[in-house]
Amino acid sequence: MTEKLFRAAKKHIAGGVNSPVRAFKSVTGTPVFFKKARGAYLYDTEGRKYIDYVGSWGPMILGHAHPDVVRSVQKASANGLSFGAPTEIETQMADKICDLMPNLEKIRMVSSGTEAAMSAIRLARGYTGRDKIVKFEGCYHGHADSLLVKAGSGALTLGVPTSPGVPASLARHTITLDYNKPEQVERIFSRMGEQIAAIIVEPVAGNMNCVPGTRAFLSTLRRVCNKYQSVLIFDEVMSGFRVALGGAQSIYNIKPDLTVLGKVIGGGMPVGAFGGLARIMDLLAPDGPVYQAGTLSGNPVAMSAGLTTLRLISRPGFFKQLSAKTKMLTEELQDVADQAAIPFTTNTMGGMFGLFFSGAKRITTFGQVMGCNQDHFRKFFHGMLRNGIYLAPSAYEAGFVSSKHTVIDINKTVRIAYKILKELK
Ligand code: PMP
Repeated sequence: MTEKLFRAAKKHIAGGVNSPVRAFKSVTGTPVFFKKARGAYLYDTEGRKYIDYVGSWGPMILGHAHPDVVRSVQKASANGLSFGAPTEIETQMADKICDLMPNLEKIRMVSSGTEAAMSAIRLARGYTGRDKIVKFEGCYHGHADSLLVKAGSGALTLGVPTSPGVPASLARHTITLDYNKPEQVERIFSRMGEQIAAIIVEPVAGNMNCVPGTRAFLSTLRRVCNKYQSVLIFDEVMSGFRVALGGAQSIYNIKPDLTVLGKVIGGGMPVGAFGGLARIMDLLAPDGPVYQAGTLSGNPVAMSAGLTTLRLISRPGFFKQLSAKTKMLTEELQDVADQAAIPFTTNTMGGMFGLFFSGAKRITTFGQVMGCNQDHFRKFFHGMLRNGIYLAPSAYEAGFVSSKHTVIDINKTVRIAYKILKELK
């Protein structure tokens, strides 16, 4: 059945999917087609039920089809799907986000994380009048041209495209360094800090599995940006409203100049945002010269899903409970992996987690992530899937727990994991 659906999808959809990781290429096999989702569960086209640890790659922090979110979407839709003109809910959404996130004075809504990161980079370049940006290997900031770049061999300072179609002349303005290696940042800034418009970083990296930035690393970024008057951009598309209500910046207490958001703020609808210091944001059109726009930006239906989600996760104790549940999951998985004698370690922050088939005690670098046992991951993934546990189909993605996951769900997950881990031996 799934094979048939995938074959049909491939006829007119490039690669059969609308986003590459969905195709199961890195774990092999055929992607599952889903029909319905409720709370912590997904249901495939054959009616099989799965406990979901992907949560649409992050947004579904309240679980799927939360009745209040669905109701708000229905109500908003009945009043019109899009106006392309100001609506009150956009102001309410902006006020709510700026209220919850510690370092946002002004914000602008867009329709995806990619768009938000791309716009923040342009704004930082416009603000500083500089072209170069610094990013880190293993971090993902969407697929804008300047960001699909890796370090060129040998020369730290000359980025090369990671995708055909990205002009080399643009890629050379992107400097890619190693994550959690503050000394590299110091070195590059002392060489060419005056040319660098911005550093963009995931303060808790969620695109090389889950790797929290170290305090030394993130505070070095802040320090060099202050010294050289470069813009520090925290990409909190994944960590925002996920690791804590105020994002990673509230945990580390480090103030970025700009913040990029997505995922949870849309509650499952296509929403992204970027914001930060008013003196930078005021450079955006129409008040300033840096151009940025969107037909569907601030869409009222999407805003209503996002705003309802933000209101619900702002309830006292929400993140405490979510974090405790996520920790329970990773600690119990660690226990059973130890019992099965499989080299394994985990990272956890808030409602986000990472599982690593590695003998390392603590994973802090991209190199360590790349060194994990891929074969173990693939077998674990498929074993879990066969038993109704849906993990991200890639060893380089973070996992997510929602407020709807119960202790019973977690116990079941751990029981199945133990069975699969023993089989790996
Ligand atoms: N930044 C980060 C940190 C992300 O995790 C993602 C998506 N996974 C993006 C940007 C891009 O967001 P989108 O897929 O909505 O374009």
